[in-house]
Amino acid sequence: MEKPAICGGTPACSTPVQYGKQYIDDADIQAVTNVLKSDFLTCGPQIPALEKKFREVTGAKYAVAVSNGTAALHIACIAAGIGPGDEVITTPVTFAASANCVSYCGGKPVFADINPETYNIDPLAVEACITPGTKAVLPVHFTGQAVAYDEIAAICKKHGLILIQDAAHAVGTHYKGKPIGSLADMTCFSCHPVKTVTSGEGGVVTTNDEELYKKLLLARSHGITRDQSQMLNPIDDPWYYEMISLGYNYRLTDMQAALLSSQLDKLPAFSKRRKDIVDRYNEAFQDVDGVIIQKEIPESDTTRHLYILQLDPDVLTCSRRQFFDAMHAENILCQVHYIPVYHLPYYQRLGYPVGLCPKAERLYERILSIPLYYSLTDEQVDGVILAVKKICAYYHK
Ligand SMILES: *Cc1c(COP(=O)(O)O)cnc(C)c1O
Repeated sequence: MEKPAICGGTPACSTPVQYGKQYIDDADIQAVTNVLKSDFLTCGPQIPALEKKFREVTGAKYAVAVSNGTAALHIACIAAGIGPGDEVITTPVTFAASANCVSYCGGKPVFADINPETYNIDPLAVEACITPGTKAVLPVHFTGQAVAYDEIAAICKKHGLILIQDAAHAVGTHYKGKPIGSLADMTCFSCHPVKTVTSGEGGVVTTNDEELYKKLLLARSHGITRDQSQMLNPIDDPWYYEMISLGYNYRLTDMQAALLSSQLDKLPAFSKRRKDIVDRYNEAFQDVDGVIIQKEIPESDTTRHLYILQLDPDVLTCSRRQFFDAMHAENILCQVHYIPVYHLPYYQRLGYPVGLCPKAERLYERILSIPLYYSLTDEQVDGVILAVKKICAYYHK
């Protein structure tokens, strides 16, 4: 085996490769340009057109487009009625926003540990966290792989809890043949540029429940309604509106909506390429001594957002930091997803103890995310595989 670049070998990739990256084509650019030349930059026809497309992709009855994935999670918590004293169970292996949305509402995020093989929240751990204060469960389809949905939905039903899914990683994923977005009370998507489809910034909430849908619309736009049936004092003046709850301005612009609609046209191609790359990585890494791959569950037909390698400290002499730096020297810019949320200083100050979720913490110590995106070339995929093999061989005990 060749020497790793960190010890003077040739880098496996000739130019730097990011872990994630958007793909924008001429159709996307045209879609945005058309809006710029039109009458509406926001609150125009692109929003309902996008929401219709999102309903088609997810099979949901209603879709509400918002300014980002965090806003999607926030209005879902508002619609669920989360307030002071309410507990919401989520995973520590996620981006901070999955817990912050609960904190915004004055609620308390409660962290349930993960399954150490799939990296998704463990339904048994969820059930063990339920108290009289529990109001909702907010699982994350981590890396894009569906959580054990049926088990979690059964727990929610048994205890009368609302189920909100963080599907920021999971657009295009199906669970038992059903698209993510058609299941659960509400499902929240992010369209940040590292995610599978993007609008720059953007997010969508889907639901099948009309009452929740109405609450989501109010929370997105200041709590203002022009629907007389929702008004306290309906007056038939054309300019009249009422603000009936405290909402936000979480609207998406028409430029962003047009971009996202155009991106959704490419979702089948994006999914296919991501699956191809995951298959190639899985095949290459299953026999590499030193790395462990994420277990895939048969119920999930996964459009993967992240590809995570777990380093095996029983085999490797190097630290995760040394592995990370060695990958960097190969021109492969890895990342780590994620620092357990309750390790972040804000949550530490609220008193969450280190050691709360030992399986999540152990995973965090060992992982790094390698490049996965639509336009990653076969040559770059081969480069990533070669780099991992070189580094594992070099640092083998
Ligand atoms: C990206 C992400 C979010 C937040 O989405 P934004 O669009 O960046 O606000 C929430 N949850 C998870 C798991 C994410 O990866």
